[in-house]
Amino acid sequence: MSNSHQGKWEKRWHPLREEWVVYSAHRNSRPWQGADLFKTKESKVYDPTCYLCPGNSRIHGSVNPNYLDVFIFENDHPVVGMQAPVVAATEGFYKKENARGIARVVCYDPRHNITLSQMKLEAVIKVFSTFQTQMAEFEKNPEIKSVLIFENKGEAVGVSNPHPHCQIYAVDFPLNLVNQQIQIAQRYRTANGKNIFEEIIHQEKKDNVRILAENENAIAFIPYFARYAYEVMIFPKKNHQTFISLSPQELADMASLFHQTVRRMDMNFNMDFPYVMSFMQAPVDGNKYPEFRMHIWLQPPYRQPGLIKYPAGPEIGAGNFMADTMPEDKAAELLKVNLNAYALER
Ligand SMILES: [Zn+2]
Repeated sequence: MSNSHQGKWEKRWHPLREEWVVYSAHRNSRPWQGADLFKTKESKVYDPTCYLCPGNSRIHGSVNPNYLDVFIFENDHPVVGMQAPVVAATEGFYKKENARGIARVVCYDPRHNITLSQMKLEAVIKVFSTFQTQMAEFEKNPEIKSVLIFENKGEAVGVSNPHPHCQIYAVDFPLNLVNQQIQIAQRYRTANGKNIFEEIIHQEKKDNVRILAENENAIAFIPYFARYAYEVMIFPKKNHQTFISLSPQELADMASLFHQTVRRMDMNFNMDFPYVMSFMQAPVDGNKYPEFRMHIWLQPPYRQPGLIKYPAGPEIGAGNFMADTMPEDKAAELLKVNLNAYALER
């Protein structure tokens, strides 16, 4: 299937969106020469103008502590708040309500010029276990229904501050894509008597051409139905709905596959590879969602450096993605990377 001739003008069913993705793969006509990660890299460990660096002041005068590893604070520019001014709720065809929730920023590391991929695995595991602690706290808060943990990494996805961090939105409404996946998974169960996520993992193992890494408790792959060239999903092998129920070993195994994957991405183009990462988790609203399985979802915008996949006519106008590359080819490319040669760990 890695033969590029077979990839042309093919459409594949996206089971988690119930829509077609069209692949018109062709050989990359622009060979990539390779960025120099070390030359272009921000070299300062500490930036006095960075609002996330230890000891610095933030916008409303809060001063960051001299933190040593993970540091969490309430976002100074929250999109949602618990003390939001009251909006008079209106019912009807056009309706509105208060947007209530908690917005937090998670700094992974005090060092300004490091990334999750460059951090040691133990430090990444610590970040992930912080997410777990946060989730357990949100689960106890009756006002919080859904939580999105996400990282926008790189200027290509609009991030101006390179200090390694992510954000948490804990809100009082259902998150759209999780909600969609829950409904689709439920329909799939009713129609086929199977769990849709089990099916996807089963198919990936059967095809065995898009798996990037696997260990005892987790599996990472570019899905058959990937919309972005380097889109990766990382699943626990057991059916967990959120971070909360992962055992320490399962959490470490998820972190390990994530770590390997982002290192492959960085090494593939010798650059800090930008991405949008989201931790897809079931609502924490007190209900059970046994058909849903939590996963880490990486959606890098680049087809290759300097060549961004912008959603345009087909994607925005019709809602169907047109992909330029085949998932098998991109998986093979990432698998060629020699992880042992990774030399940026600090
Ligand atoms: Zn900083």
